Amino acid sequence: MIVYLTKGDITEIEADAIVNAANSFLEHGGGVAYAIVRKGGKEIQEESREYVRKHGPLKTGEVAVTSAGKLKAKYIIHAVGPRYGIEGEEKLEEAIRNSLRKAEELKVKSIALPAISTGIYGYPYEVCARKMAKVLKENWNLDKIIVCLYTNDAYEVFKRIFKEEG
Ligand code: ADP
Repeated sequence: MIVYLTKGDITEIEADAIVNAANSFLEHGGGVAYAIVRKGGKEIQEESREYVRKHGPLKTGEVAVTSAGKLKAKYIIHAVGPRYGIEGEEKLEEAIRNSLRKAEELKVKSIALPAISTGIYGYPYEVCARKMAKVLKENWNLDKIIVCLYTNDAYEVFKRIFKEEG
């Protein structure tokens, strides 16, 4: 398994599954979620609403899957991260782990993840980077994991922490 850190827009990445930093209601109104729907098409939002109608809102740390619409990926894995100051960082670890578990279940080989909870939800990049480093070290049956950072700042922090944590 190879882990890549990359800087840019996650909707441009070639991976079988793309993880979205979602909210419990899977209403993709801002941040990376909005970018995914804008580029992937409204079917992603429609499938998301259908999921919530059927199953109810997701709990923090949980994931749900939809198609990826017009994106190159096969699936979007919508992961609900915690809100900083309201929900603990163990939920961030859960959201990351559940995303990778779901990718294994879907039998995909490659997955791209954004820095969940570090935008609207306010977590420091450093906390997210440490959680990612920890979870990525576990034994995953995936060929390629791409961590996609949107800002320079995020990229530099992740690079430093990943080096520190090996
Ligand atoms: P959350 O509500 O979980 O904080 P956000 O979407 O607000 O989710 O932000 C999560 C991270 O995604 C932030 O670090 C933000 O800079 C980043 N981000 C925003 N747009 C994109 C994009 N198109 N591709 C990759 N990352 C993005």
